Amino acid sequence: MVPVRNIVILTGAGVSAESGIDTFRSAGGLWERHRPEDVATPEAFARDPDLVLAFYDMRRAAIQEKQPNAAHEALARLDAAWPGELLIVTQNIDDLHERAGARRMLHMHGEHLNAWCRACDRRSRWLGPLLDRPPCPQCGAAALRPDVVWFGEMPYRMDEIQAALRRCDLFVSIGTSGAVYPAAGFVRDARDLGARTLELNLEPSQGSAWFHESRLGPATEVVPAWVDEMLGQ
Ligand code: NAD
Repeated sequence: MVPVRNIVILTGAGVSAESGIDTFRSAGGLWERHRPEDVATPEAFARDPDLVLAFYDMRRAAIQEKQPNAAHEALARLDAAWPGELLIVTQNIDDLHERAGARRMLHMHGEHLNAWCRACDRRSRWLGPLLDRPPCPQCGAAALRPDVVWFGEMPYRMDEIQAALRRCDLFVSIGTSGAVYPAAGFVRDARDLGARTLELNLEPSQGSAWFHESRLGPATEVVPAWVDEMLGQ
């Protein structure tokens, strides 16, 4: 087998599940209590901004109480030690990868702890509520919204992601159901371009057949074991 040099890792809600953050689609997940079209679309925000802002305010407060788990920590260890290229592309909007110490990463679906001003188009770090329509710290307009990518909006930094997928020889998908595009299509892009593909998930994802290999189990077990293997420990 060709030695691995460049790695792209896609993570989803499953990597944060054992930190106590609900996934979207697992039993007991977020969507059993809130329909996506009620809280995670631009149309929902236009129709009922108070409901959407209150939902995200609750989530923003909750994630600040959570801690990274062994899977986030193992990925940060790999990031620090891996001599080749490495990019962690997370669909998660929590900040647990960076709190564990990961540096070579990006948030393709935005961040809970950012607010985006629709008046001046700038982003600000935001830890408190938005429901009371606080002024934008940059321009003063009461036009802040959560800086998260809603269904029907364009994910962030797709050019960088596609460039990394073209260069990688290993693509690893962790804790994602493979239901949300374009992230769900990355495995096919990487595989078509010759990368080896590995899935680490609690159960087979919707795109499981596209992976050369699947390792099933909780992220806090399968991710550290895989990282140890990659680092030869
Ligand atoms: P998803 O809920 O659709 O799927 C989660 C996947 O994780 C499932 O395949 C499930 O089997 C797996 N899983 C559950 N517990 C696990 C564990 N302990 N170990 C390993 N795998 C486990 O999530 P997704 O595919 O990331 O969905 C995409 C959308 O959900 C994204 O847009 C993302 O922004 C959003 N989301 C983010 C968060 C977060 O920031 N933590 C939480 C919920 C949803």
